[in-house]
Amino acid sequence: MRRFIFLILSCIVGLSASAQESGSLLIQNVRLFDGESISEGVDVVFENGKVAAIQAHAPDRQADQIIDGKGKTLLPGLINAHVHIWFPAHLAEAAKAGVLTVMDMHASRFSIPILKALKDSTGFANYLSAGPGATVPGGHGTQFGMPTPTIDSVTSAKSFTVDRVADGADYIKILREPSRPTINFEQIDTVIATAHAHEKLAVSHISRKADGIRLAASDLDGFVHIWFDEPSTKAEIEALVEGGQFMVPTILTNKRVIEYFEAQNQDIPHLSVEQLLAEIKKLHEAGINLVAGTDPPNLNINYGTDLFTELELFVESGMSPLEALKTATGNAAKAFHLQEAGWLKVGMPAHAFLVDGNPSENIGDARQVVHVWKAGKIVK
Ligand SMILES: [Zn+2]
Repeated sequence: MRRFIFLILSCIVGLSASAQESGSLLIQNVRLFDGESISEGVDVVFENGKVAAIQAHAPDRQADQIIDGKGKTLLPGLINAHVHIWFPAHLAEAAKAGVLTVMDMHASRFSIPILKALKDSTGFANYLSAGPGATVPGGHGTQFGMPTPTIDSVTSAKSFTVDRVADGADYIKILREPSRPTINFEQIDTVIATAHAHEKLAVSHISRKADGIRLAASDLDGFVHIWFDEPSTKAEIEALVEGGQFMVPTILTNKRVIEYFEAQNQDIPHLSVEQLLAEIKKLHEAGINLVAGTDPPNLNINYGTDLFTELELFVESGMSPLEALKTATGNAAKAFHLQEAGWLKVGMPAHAFLVDGNPSENIGDARQVVHVWKAGKIVK
């Protein structure tokens, strides 16, 4: 009951927030990160929910509302490409932190229409979802207490995937996890081929390097974890480059898994945190498209500010702060073919946030959020 009341309250807050402000907003003389590069001293105009203009700063430019952007950086709303969400409150937590698009990687099929209905409500991140991931009876994804369809004697890999498309899935998630009964490679190939026949991308959970290397040779589009069992060789990285998949490595998630193994003295082969970061560095240097995702609520990871921790871990692995910002913006948009997120360019929806300082030089400044806008309206 308390959860239900919270849900209703969240909706009311969202509706009142979307009823405010109209007209043009000028953010003047600001540093702009547009999803791939930095421009200094520009004027950005939001109008009718979109980015209406980006021009060199001119002191006499007018608008209905003006914000001084000096010393600040404007960025596209961030994308978290690996979450699990049940309630609108999770979308609100993300939006408040500047995370305006979340990508669910295994969810109840019944929550998809409820969460997608908040697309035009200001206080909530936009929700994209795989719905339930492709798994088998007793497999990973079936242990969370929600009704989970599986590939079994009744439902083929093909009909499972067709069902997800019918549910409204934006992409198809595969749960390859050999610590339990798991979907086999033949079934995975069918899921991928069926997804592609319906113009959906197919992405996979992995935890073991051997599965990553095996799936690099398939038509899979991306991985939504990196392995944690052992370091890769040069030849294996080359196989991944050859495969062309993008990767959402969920560094924070894997780091917490490794820390848990170590605290429990678990006898499971695993990388050290140092080795995990070295794997990220190898993937980045090899040119693999890396995308930010944090897998909340697993391991007590939150839906909002923990995405900044993921960006900081990318920097710790050796990436420049600018490259790290791309993992939650342009890289994600490229990986998932997103049309309305990840970029701040003229004509795009004005999903953006303003921070103090310069996160393209000091990644910690991404946390200094001053304002968040969804479709040009302030997220309170
Ligand atoms: Zn997950």
